[in-house]
Amino acid sequence: MRKKIVAGNWKMNMDLNEGLKLAGSIDKYFRENPSGKTEVILCTPFIHLAGASEILKHGKVALGAQNCASEASGAYTGEVSAWMIKSTGAEYVIIGHSERRTYYHEDDKLLYAKTILALNSGLKVIFCCGEVLSEREASSHFLIVKRQLEEGLFILSEKQMDSIVIAYEPVWAIGTGLTATPEQAQEMHKYIRDLVKEKYGNDCAKKIPILYGGSCKPSNAAEIFSNPDVDGGLIGGAALKKEDFTAIVKAIQ
Ligand code: PEP
Repeated sequence: MRKKIVAGNWKMNMDLNEGLKLAGSIDKYFRENPSGKTEVILCTPFIHLAGASEILKHGKVALGAQNCASEASGAYTGEVSAWMIKSTGAEYVIIGHSERRTYYHEDDKLLYAKTILALNSGLKVIFCCGEVLSEREASSHFLIVKRQLEEGLFILSEKQMDSIVIAYEPVWAIGTGLTATPEQAQEMHKYIRDLVKEKYGNDCAKKIPILYGGSCKPSNAAEIFSNPDVDGGLIGGAALKKEDFTAIVKAIQ
C-alpha cells in the first residue's frame, strides 16, 4: 500500500509567533488523534523552521520548507540552501511550485538543480507540476506535465526517486476556489503514474505518492482522495486553519 500524505503549504503567511502557535496546535491535535498511516507535513516559511522543528519533535507531524537555493553554499545573498534547511530538522522541501515557476521564473533546468541539491542534503522533495488554464483549454495539459517531469525530474536515478513525492497542481485551481473534478484529477494522476512506470518501471510507479493540490478543502477532500491514483494533497489556504487542515487529513483516513 502506498503512503498517504497531506502536506500544508503555508506560503508567505503568518509571523513567527502566529506560525509557531499554529504548529503547536496541529502537533497537539495529532498527538491526541494520531493520523495513522497518513503522513502529515507542514511546509513553513524559512524563519519558522527551527522553532517548528522543536515543537514537532514528538514525530507526529513532519516539517518541510517551500523552496531552496539552486547553489550549495557561498556568496548568494538572501538565499537559503538545502543543507541549511536539513540542519533545522526539516525532512521535506517543495520544489517547482507554480508560484515559484511564475513569479520567480524558475525553469525545469533550475528545478532539477534544486532537486539534486535537496536530495544530496538528505531532504525529500515534493516536486510540483501542473498546467495553467490556457494550456488546459488548448488540451495541452498532458504535454506540459510530461515536459515538466521529464526535464525537471526524470533525470534522477530510480534510487533517488524513492525520495520524491509528486504533487499535481493545476495552476487554475490554486487559490482560486476552482477544483479539478475528481475525474480530471484521477485522469492526470494516472497519466503521471504511467509516465513514471514507463521511465522507472512498475515498482517505482506503484510506490511513488502523487498528491493533488488546488483549492482542496474539507468539503471536497474526501471525494478527491477517493480516487485510486490520488495519494493525498498539497494544501494551501486551508492549511492555515487547524480545523480545516485536520479535517482534510481526516478525510483521507
Ligand atoms: C498550493 O499552493 O499548493 C495550493 C494547493 O493552494 P490552495 O490550496 O490555496 O489552492
